[in-house]
Amino acid sequence: MKLTPTETIWMDGEFIPWDQAQIHVLTPSLHYGWGVYEGIRAYPTADGPAVFRLREHLQRLHDSARVYLMDPGWSVDELAEASLELLRRTGLESGYLRPIAYLGYGAMGVAPQLDNARVVIATWPWGSYLGEKAEREGCRLVVSSWQRNGIHSVPPLAKATGAYVNSALAKVEAVRSGYDDALMLTPAGHVAEASAANIFAVRDRMLITPPVSDNILPGITRDTVMTLARDLGYEVNEQSLTRSELYVADEAFLTGTAAEIVPVASVDDRAVAAGGCGPVTKQLREAFQGVVHGRNPDYRGWLDYA
Ligand code: PMP
Repeated sequence: MKLTPTETIWMDGEFIPWDQAQIHVLTPSLHYGWGVYEGIRAYPTADGPAVFRLREHLQRLHDSARVYLMDPGWSVDELAEASLELLRRTGLESGYLRPIAYLGYGAMGVAPQLDNARVVIATWPWGSYLGEKAEREGCRLVVSSWQRNGIHSVPPLAKATGAYVNSALAKVEAVRSGYDDALMLTPAGHVAEASAANIFAVRDRMLITPPVSDNILPGITRDTVMTLARDLGYEVNEQSLTRSELYVADEAFLTGTAAEIVPVASVDDRAVAAGGCGPVTKQLREAFQGVVHGRNPDYRGWLDYA
């Protein structure tokens, strides 16, 4: 997806012009993938732009940093304030926010100098992640030939830059084969997640999503959907799923900050029973849109207004 530049980027405590937000080619994180980041969305509301679950995302950034032995040097509150000020300065009504903590220039080697963290927050407009057609008719998934990163290799619960070569290999393979996204499995053959989104199956009006122990990134949209679904009276279970359970599901959908909630039309060319967007997926999508746009007072605590 093409980037649309905005006015300014927050870099180590200062707002600088978009084009000047540059780093040295020998920045260690570029070479070794040792960095952590987040993807956050801001939505237009009747009271101006609001960031959805900003603190939870920034807490996950801190958690990811802990896994990688980094200290971002800025607290969750400081990064939240910087994010909101960035939105105000760019004048965006809605958009995607990308905080990243990486290791700055100064040393090289596979054991990087860990006390040299730098932090940047950028924002830009970002539309539908899987495209309008997938939103409307559902996305087509294919089980990847690549396994999802595992607990013995690259910790899946940390959102690390280097970890995304795994997602990217799977996504590129899926797209080159004519699908919208990859479905990645664990070494045991359990469903983990799509390349950058969690997955839910619906069977007999019960929701099932893989547990954290099945090598997922614990998604904040996943948590949002579990909360909304339970509040709407659905039973939600975190339990292992096999690919064939998805083949026979009534409905399935993906969740993620970029993707939001996208219906799954097929898995490995087996059409999901509901076809397109099923009734439970539709209800959750509507509930989600109400919440992120500030129309549901019960969940206003999830919004930080710029
Ligand atoms: N899994 C992976 C691998 C992801 O990159 C993402 C996107 N951050 C998700 C799941 C969904 O997480 P979230 O809902 O917090 O965006």
